[in-house]
Amino acid sequence: MMHSRAPNPVMQIVTYGAVFFCVTSLTIVWTRFSGGLALVWPGAAIAAALFLTIPRSHSLAAAVTLAAFSTLATALFGLGPVWAIPFALVNVFEAWLIAWLLVRFRPQQDYVESEIGIVWLGFLAGIVGPLAASIPGGILASQVIAGGWQEHSFSWFIAHGLGTLLVMPLTLLLASYKKPVFARLLKRDRILPFIGMTLLTIGISAVALLQSTFPTLFLPVVPLVLASFRFGRFGAAITVLLITLASAGTLGTDTGVFAELTIPLWQKALFLQFYLSILVLLSFPLAVALKQRQRFMEELANREAMQRLIADHSDDALLQLDQHGMIRFASPASIRLSGRDKVVDLHLAAFFSEFDKEIVDRTLRSAAQYPGHTEIIERSVERGGQTRWLEAKLRAIDSSKHQASAYVVTIRDVTARKLDEIQASREARTDALTGLPNRRAFLDVLEDQLEFAGEEPFALALVDLDYFKRVNDSYGHAVGDAVLKQVAEIMRESANDNCFFARLGGEEFGMIAVGPARETAAIICEKLRLAIQRHVMTDNDGGTFNITASLGIARIAERCSSSMAMQAADGPLYSAKAAGRNRLRHAQDMGRHGENRKPPLEDSRVAANS
Ligand code: GH3
Ligand code: MG
Ligand code: MG
Repeated sequence: MMHSRAPNPVMQIVTYGAVFFCVTSLTIVWTRFSGGLALVWPGAAIAAALFLTIPRSHSLAAAVTLAAFSTLATALFGLGPVWAIPFALVNVFEAWLIAWLLVRFRPQQDYVESEIGIVWLGFLAGIVGPLAASIPGGILASQVIAGGWQEHSFSWFIAHGLGTLLVMPLTLLLASYKKPVFARLLKRDRILPFIGMTLLTIGISAVALLQSTFPTLFLPVVPLVLASFRFGRFGAAITVLLITLASAGTLGTDTGVFAELTIPLWQKALFLQFYLSILVLLSFPLAVALKQRQRFMEELANREAMQRLIADHSDDALLQLDQHGMIRFASPASIRLSGRDKVVDLHLAAFFSEFDKEIVDRTLRSAAQYPGHTEIIERSVERGGQTRWLEAKLRAIDSSKHQASAYVVTIRDVTARKLDEIQASREARTDALTGLPNRRAFLDVLEDQLEFAGEEPFALALVDLDYFKRVNDSYGHAVGDAVLKQVAEIMRESANDNCFFARLGGEEFGMIAVGPARETAAIICEKLRLAIQRHVMTDNDGGTFNITASLGIARIAERCSSSMAMQAADGPLYSAKAAGRNRLRHAQDMGRHGENRKPPLEDSRVAANS
């Protein structure tokens, strides 16, 4: 079939088994110099990699296959058929244990993907697994070969630990590759430098290992580091393998640098293993870190491309600021939103009016205090004689030094939304019938005035149309509505910056007079009363009629609640009604006229100042 699919587990078991058999046989033949255990044991790595990569349901089949191949290799080339089966069992157990430990303690399975992953691999596959298997392995070996079990356990541990350390990264790496990766590896522009690097490694290793005049074992580090940089994890793994083969060859043939050493062979082997481990521990984490960095850079480049695309085509301005709030990057929309030809190197405040500099600075400071938290500035600005609204959202970029290192900002023209909001708020504060401000708007103004009533007294008046029910009853509700509108119109004519009218509900209106109007409030009310009285209303049939209004006024010279203030004017209004309607009453009038409803206590207190 042409399309790619998951690897067939049976094929995988057969392939790994065959490789395992070849590697194991070669290891036994080449490295059992002393007639004891092998010096380096890469078989465990291949077997463990198989356990790690096949589905769990095939573990038993894999174990049986590996055990069979291991038995065969030991029987043919090693300790003979009698001991082959128990050795095979220990070998398979070791590989299974390594795989189990890896999955158990590093379920992310990033053994060749991250620095932490490679540390877990080194620790569990290079130390823990081989150490656990070395005890049964050593005891077994002591039955066949001369020497105590501790001695054999020790060389088992070293050989297997080194074997897994050297081979497992490469095996897992190859297992993780898919077809296209192999195809890429085989491209001319990669394969030629790779061959070059291989030759360089062989050459340098030969110099370092074959001559013994100078201690030059550090030399292979050079091609190793180069390969790790140039070819990543694969380069590191292959180079270490080449150096391993070269040094195992020199050790085996007792030539070059090893021939000169006046120590027993096992100590030479131990030294070599130590040397190779150092190379692995140097190169592989380096290559993995580089790989991670490369991925990180790719991701960064992708994000950058995405960000550029957004920045170039967004109607919002996207900015980057330095820690002082100076613009370092600005997207094209900045030109239109700022009304300037260029904003880079200017302060963020350049987008706003000069009066807003303080607000911008304060917002930058509070953003810096909580990095990652979005701060919002919404200000109106003048652009080409028009008022526009800009909304800036800004965020400090977290830095380890507890101090904002930079800011990111988006700026958007929110004029349309702002106008809608203003419109909605205006509607919510306007009486639909008369177009006057409504009770809510009236209470807001009242609250504002009450705040400073002690320093700046003001006048509050209530206006209630007389016998309005009769208007409705006689002429109909529609005429009643028309009357309310006309009364509102009269009030609008009297309204100015110091005199505020509102329809409080029904046929009841309110007035607040401040500043100079405060002193003339009673006159304004009286004029209003006369204007209403004189206004000729028309009914549906062309007939005319007049209406009147009663008014109560109070001077508020003390801070109190809005309901208390309303009551202060309600008292005199009530007396005006009681006294026959179509008149204005002051709060202080009440007592004198002895009306049937006594004003509340607060009224007299509020009114006392007037
Ligand atoms: P008083 O002189 O004591 O104030 O008598 P009144 O009839 O004006 O007082 P009352 O509070 O008994 O009646 C108010 C009437 O105002 C009742 C209601 O039919 C009328 N009214 C209230 N809101 C509206 C409105 O929006 N349109 C119309 N057409 N009439 C309204
Ligand atoms: Mg009323
Ligand atoms: Mg009324």
